[in-house]
Amino acid sequence: MPVLVIAEHDHASIKGATLNTVTAARQCGAEVHVLVAGHQAGAAAQAAARIDGVAKVLHADGEAHAHGLAENLAAQVLAVAAGYSHILFPATAAGKNVAPRVAALLDVAQVSDVSKVVSADTFERPIYAGNAIATVQSTDAVKVLTVRTTGFDAAPAEGGAAAVESVPAVAASDKAQWLGSEIAKLDRPELTAAKIIVSGGRALGSAEKFTEVLTPLADKLGAALGASRAAVDAGYAPNDWQVGQTGKIVAPQLYIACGISGAIQHLAGMKDSKVIVAINKDPEAPIFAVADYGLEADLFTAVPELVEKL
Ligand code: FAD
Repeated sequence: MPVLVIAEHDHASIKGATLNTVTAARQCGAEVHVLVAGHQAGAAAQAAARIDGVAKVLHADGEAHAHGLAENLAAQVLAVAAGYSHILFPATAAGKNVAPRVAALLDVAQVSDVSKVVSADTFERPIYAGNAIATVQSTDAVKVLTVRTTGFDAAPAEGGAAAVESVPAVAASDKAQWLGSEIAKLDRPELTAAKIIVSGGRALGSAEKFTEVLTPLADKLGAALGASRAAVDAGYAPNDWQVGQTGKIVAPQLYIACGISGAIQHLAGMKDSKVIVAINKDPEAPIFAVADYGLEADLFTAVPELVEKL
């Protein structure tokens, strides 16, 4: 039986998290299909067809999907679900908004945050903020999964030549209506997609210092900015920069933690980073236990020095 991935897209292109989800899907079954539900989203459907390893793209185009309303997308998934053994979503805010609706409507138990596919019915997922890994076997006829994207390499965005099949778009739900969107404008890479992240903690002391000290380093490296929850709660950094158990899960090539102690809730969001650099003046700080490179120093001297040397 084929496996279905629900694409995340902006109607013109496919978002990176979809590529990691395709890799997970290929480990669940031999034939991977991708659903692109959008409005005037032909370009996104074509982009999905070029993903290496995708056998078929289902393209549902209609106004109901213009704004990505979860009610409409869940109904669309239900409309095409028959015949699939697995339905996979990226474990992003958007994916996590739709997958439980689909699982409930199919009357199956969702397996959340899958970080490894052991076999077609057995999956690993982190629990207790990543301090334990649960192995979960699902006996449901259809497996509805959300995929922790940092657990799977991205499938190559080019190299495939899948057929694109149009499927009828569902009618818009009468229970939810789109009124407006406020989209944050980013002048640097998005946190979960960034290859390098410079992250700051409570030690920065103020929003002004956070910007003054960390922005030059992030600019030099072309990095995204992240923050600990303490820094966010104190108003030094915006909410959507928070990394951790209750923030974003990231796994960049390089994560530079400045004045962050390394509480387990923070580590839960970044410990899969390829290279971790920690700058902290306390040699006992737990962040040093996960760091590949540790610098025991005052960040207010060390970071400007680093910027100067880069
Ligand atoms: P602190 O723990 O206060 O650490 C500051 C560090 O800066 C210290 O190690 C200190 O030695 C160092 N320092 C001080 N001055 C300097 C200097 N001049 N130069 C260099 N180093 C210096 N936290 C998250 O980050 N993300 C989450 O998603 C998250 N979710 C949570 C969920 C729950 C349910 C709970 C209970 C907590 C959560 N937390 C989360 C909070 C977490 O437990 C910590 O409180 C938080 O991560 C601490 O942030 P911090 O490291 O910036 O601050």
